[in-house]
Order: sequence, then structure tokens, then C-alpha cells
Amino acid sequence: MLHAMASETEKAHALLQTFSTASVISSLGLGFFCFVVDQLQQFSYIQQNDWLRALSDNAVHGVVGMWSWAIVIGLRKKSDFTEVTLAGFLSSVIDVDHFFLAGTLSLKAALTLPRRPILHCSTVIPVMALTLKFIMHLFRLKDSWCFLPWMLFISWTSHHVRDGIRHGLWICPFGKTAPLPYWLYVAITASLPHLCSFIMYLTGTRELMSIKHGIHIDV
Ligand SMILES: [Zn+2]
Repeated sequence: MLHAMASETEKAHALLQTFSTASVISSLGLGFFCFVVDQLQQFSYIQQNDWLRALSDNAVHGVVGMWSWAIVIGLRKKSDFTEVTLAGFLSSVIDVDHFFLAGTLSLKAALTLPRRPILHCSTVIPVMALTLKFIMHLFRLKDSWCFLPWMLFISWTSHHVRDGIRHGLWICPFGKTAPLPYWLYVAITASLPHLCSFIMYLTGTRELMSIKHGIHIDV
């Protein structure tokens, strides 16, 4: 639930917590990881093998999703790893829609689709996140699962932005953008967890999480 109006003190507090030293170092690390792993992917051995390229690319989506969520929650307990794994899964799983649209498990067919599959439309992200929030509200799951719409948002956005280096962002039904500049992809990926944390602090989602999950909040 949105707090009616966050006071100036609350905002300042949220900002401080969002940019803790550990989280800033982790997101710089994430940006660096993206850069290094994208260089590694250029090896011709990987580029010449369709399956290897697709699987390693998907694995990177997963790791970026995991890393991003780890920055948001800060890894402190064993159970946090379950959450982080779920974020990685959400980040990777949307590539399955290539195969759904192709109607076959043939990688060649999945890679040469006449159009982009629906989960790669960025408009779907806010729609799905809000639908999820609504469903959770309906079933009164909002306390223990309050993080889920945010996890979906961050996992899917990082995936779309990473795909966006080559394909641009597809904002259906309005069309698509030009391919994203590489620096923009790295900058968005590294700052997304902070943006997410900040809004979560402001909206009280972090408080609910810390009560339910025992996440230690410090400055
Ligand atoms: Zn994709």
C-alpha cells in the first residue's frame, strides 16, 4: 500500500538506505559483470554454436536477475537465496516464449521468428506487475508475497534492456525503439535495483518485507 504522503525525513531515510555502501559496490560489480560477460560471449566458439550462444545468453539473463534482486534485498540469510533464485528464474524464463511462438523446440525456428514473442513486449511488464499486485490483494497474499510484483518488474526489465542492445525496446502497440546504446544498458541495469529499492522504501513494501522475512534494514 502506498503511504499517503512520505515526509521529507522519510524520503531522506529511504534514499540513505537505498544507497548503502554495500549495495552501491554490488551494483558497480553488476555493471562490470555485464561488460565482461558480454565480451566473453563474443568468442567465436560461442557465436558459432546456436545452442551454446542461446543457453549462455539465457544464463546471463538469469545471473543479472539474481544479482539485481540480491542488491535489492541484501543477502543475509539462507532463505534470501531462494528469493534470489526465483528472481533469476523469472529473468530467464521469458525466453521460453520464443519456443511457444515457434510452436516447436527447434532453436532455429525459435531464433528466426517473424515477430517478437509477447513476453518481450515491454508494456507487458507494468501490466503483469499490477495484475499480480491486484491478484495478491484479492487473495490477501499481499504481506508475505508483497515483493513479487517488484521482483517481476526488475527481472523482466533487466531482461528486456539486455535484449534491447540488439533489438531495441518493443513498446507494443506503439512500436519499437532503436537498439539501446551499450552504456545505457549497463547504466540502467546497475541503477534499476536502486530505483526499485527506493520506491519500495517509500511505499512501505520494504517494511512489510523486513517484518515477514526478517530482513535487517540498516543505514
Ligand atoms: Zn529475451
